[in-house]
Amino acid sequence: MAQLLVVEDDERIRTALIRALRDRGHVVSSAGTALDGLRQAVDERPDLVVLDLGLPDLDGRELLRMLRAVSAVPVIVATARDDEGSVVQALDNGADDYVLKPFRAEQLEARIRAVLRRAAGAADAGAATVSVGTLTVDPRSRRVTVAGRPVELSPKEFDLLAYLAARAGTVVSKRELLAEVWQLPYGGSDKTLDVHLSWLRRKLGESGTEPRLLQTVRGVGVRLAEPDAETDAETAAQPPADAEP
Ligand code: CA
Repeated sequence: MAQLLVVEDDERIRTALIRALRDRGHVVSSAGTALDGLRQAVDERPDLVVLDLGLPDLDGRELLRMLRAVSAVPVIVATARDDEGSVVQALDNGADDYVLKPFRAEQLEARIRAVLRRAAGAADAGAATVSVGTLTVDPRSRRVTVAGRPVELSPKEFDLLAYLAARAGTVVSKRELLAEVWQLPYGGSDKTLDVHLSWLRRKLGESGTEPRLLQTVRGVGVRLAEPDAETDAETAAQPPADAEP
């Protein structure tokens, strides 16, 4: 059973879909417009969104882009447009899977199960202990050590570090951190994040002169990575040296 949000403007399809999904034990809410769907996706935090692409107020792909800026909720696109282009674009915009209309409820249910299984797998991976350099983060026990020594963190500092650790090596945008760690989907103050980052750095024993695990990538976001990765990134960011063979 999952909590689902159906965004579909065609009332007949919407009603049939809601009934079919409820019959299969899901809790289902629905929206008939893109903006209503976006609001509900943020407010209700469903496990999965079934999204029609042809909506009256906004194109479903546009909604998908807006949704992806604030949420990682799995999305299955349900579309009558069997042209490859819109499906590819929807997948590029962050859809997890798609079904082409008309589809049978069993088919959608199978896709929903598969997408939720993948999402659960990703969440499990996120719960694994992560080691980056001398830093170890264990999300299950909420324990953090540096070179074997325990580090005391506030709950928010831990959440921030665990979120970055689960994505170690990749740059996470400030907007994503504010949405996912602070639950501020429409963005909050960068200041909040910057302050927590500086506290976190201090507790991890980092300073500007020592190699830093918590790397700020200017204008992009933050990355937790081994110091070597920072050097590489900085080198890569340099314009190519001229006259070098
Ligand atoms: Ca439609």
